Amino acid sequence: MIVTRFAPSPTGLLHLGHALAAIIAHESGDDFLLRIEDIDKGRSRDKFIEAIFFDLKWLGLSWDEPTLRQSTRMGAYAEALANLKARGLVYPCFCTRAEIAQEIARAGEAQHGPEGPLYPGTCKSLSVEEGLRRIAAGENHALRLDVSKATKQTGPLTFREHGHIHPVDPLRFGDIVIARKDMPTSYHLAVVVDDAYQQVSLVTRGEDLLSAAHIQRLLQALLKLPEPVYAHHPLVLDDQGRKFSKRDGAVTLQSLREAGLTPADIRARIGI
Ligand code: GLU
Repeated sequence: MIVTRFAPSPTGLLHLGHALAAIIAHESGDDFLLRIEDIDKGRSRDKFIEAIFFDLKWLGLSWDEPTLRQSTRMGAYAEALANLKARGLVYPCFCTRAEIAQEIARAGEAQHGPEGPLYPGTCKSLSVEEGLRRIAAGENHALRLDVSKATKQTGPLTFREHGHIHPVDPLRFGDIVIARKDMPTSYHLAVVVDDAYQQVSLVTRGEDLLSAAHIQRLLQALLKLPEPVYAHHPLVLDDQGRKFSKRDGAVTLQSLREAGLTPADIRARIGI
């Protein structure tokens, strides 16, 4: 049995790109689940959750209950984080964005990953005592995963996609933030914990998240979670060939509906 999921963040209205992702996930699975990725309390809004339900039903998609809200899952993320911490795979990072930018500028060069320059590792060299002292002094900090140490624990990994086996390259992101300054988890940690909890066997999502599979596969291996298969689909592009974003109000499903388009028109527009 194939279990798929659609996992939107309720930080805006759904657009054509989401419609494609949701329809592909719906059509690829025997069971189709919905997960609301609302760990970012500052940006998530209940009105957008209501709008997600409304838009999906309008598209004719139904999902298996219960709908999972990540904001109810903080205990599970804390447990996973404690596991990584206990194995010495996590270190506190006190750097601000500005300090990271300055450090990169000072070094004159930086390794680049899919999301820009990699973290230069400033706080990795702090001693455990120094880290604990600064935490005790109430200094704001994120937690980062020591990716090279983690990779040594797992050994080489692969992930499966469309019948291909890809070697995992987790170092391409550098030492990712595993728990943010403002929340005790991160996107990558919450996703792998919940894909396992919801027994998702096929992760379908846009090809902009292809790189995420590398780091998420590493986290699955570290946390001994089952390995899903991945399928990445092309993004829906606007007339200028750019990917849609939530800022493009004109292409939200709500605005298209209000302009008189039908669900069949939406499918025709995204070619599915
Ligand atoms: N919540 C993410 C988004 O809205 C998707 C996460 C995923 O599919 O893994 O872009």
